[in-house]
Amino acid sequence: MVDWVFYVTSAVLGLVIGSYLNVVIVRGPANWGLVDASPQTPSGPRSVCPACGARIAPQDLIPIVSFLALKARCRNCGARISARYPVIEALCAAAFAFNAALYGPSVEWALASVFASVLIALAAIDIETTYLPDALTLPLLIGGIAVNTVDLFAPWPEALLGAALGYAAFEAIRRGYFVLRGREGLGQGDSKLIAAIGSWVGASALPMVVFAASIATIIVIAARGRLSETSAEIPFGPGLCAAGAAALWLSALSVSVL
Ligand SMILES: [Zn+2]
Repeated sequence: MVDWVFYVTSAVLGLVIGSYLNVVIVRGPANWGLVDASPQTPSGPRSVCPACGARIAPQDLIPIVSFLALKARCRNCGARISARYPVIEALCAAAFAFNAALYGPSVEWALASVFASVLIALAAIDIETTYLPDALTLPLLIGGIAVNTVDLFAPWPEALLGAALGYAAFEAIRRGYFVLRGREGLGQGDSKLIAAIGSWVGASALPMVVFAASIATIIVIAARGRLSETSAEIPFGPGLCAAGAAALWLSALSVSVL
């Protein structure tokens, strides 16, 4: 009984955090100077419709529920609301509830939920802008090294090694590719992201993270029929984010990932 109360509370908290992540995803890239602030990018403290600028009423800001009640349209102007909003909220709620089931009410539950939240925001920002902002990857890296000083998710030396090896390996591949092909294959943000993930899950989990991320990315590319368009930029970040979250969960389930 107590378990269910905790699961549901976690899911509701995940919805609220997911709703906040949507704000970060919409405003972050412009605030961090990665993309130009479009006239549609809201800057004030209040949530407004990106199409008509009308303030969104409190009853229309309830995660998922409002999206469904409004049938994905702005109450004021009728413009379509991106499905990204409820998808991010649902993903975040699912991650929080899954962490609740996996870790129980604990420090691990809270920190694993922070890890998942930042990964969700990074994946969405990479899909929309092709950037993985330092404003998220660097705190994630420092956070991973900090939480593992007490061997919370991985032994501390392994966490340090994961960050260093992940970064070094990706930088070597990125620079090598650039020398050979004369264009960017991986972004520098990918190197910082794999370092951050390595600091949370440890070095020994990284080969499987990169392998799983590659498979997931190839499946997405194939599903979109874009294998032929080699010049099209396919973000690798979302695959890394998904595989990174999975690696943390697998280690908690005591499943060997090697
Ligand atoms: Zn509107």
